Amino acid sequence: MTELEQALLSLEERYESRCLRCGKCCGRDTDPCVHLKKGEDGRYFCEIYERRFGWHSTVSGKRFRCVSIREVKRDGYLPPDCGYR
Ligand code: SF4
Ligand code: SF4
Repeated sequence: MTELEQALLSLEERYESRCLRCGKCCGRDTDPCVHLKKGEDGRYFCEIYERRFGWHSTVSGKRFRCVSIREVKRDGYLPPDCGYR
């Protein structure tokens, strides 16, 4: 791996680590995405994280588009305690 690739990976890891894995942005407290799962440590994760972007369904069957956290932030849907605010 080149130095540039290592630097980019480090940046990405730091950015990802800001997520508290609360699951709120995936509908935890309302009508969650069918791909939102709770881990043994009590925190939440996406079971298809690497290919999450695009159209999915909530547990009640509503269709929605999963977008990047930047887009979620821009449109104002992040909870007050989210690590990306
Ligand atoms: S609301 Fe923020 S901290 Fe919680 S899972 Fe979503 S991105 Fe992570
Ligand atoms: S597909 Fe998107 S909305 Fe669904 S759990 Fe994964 S990250 Fe959350």
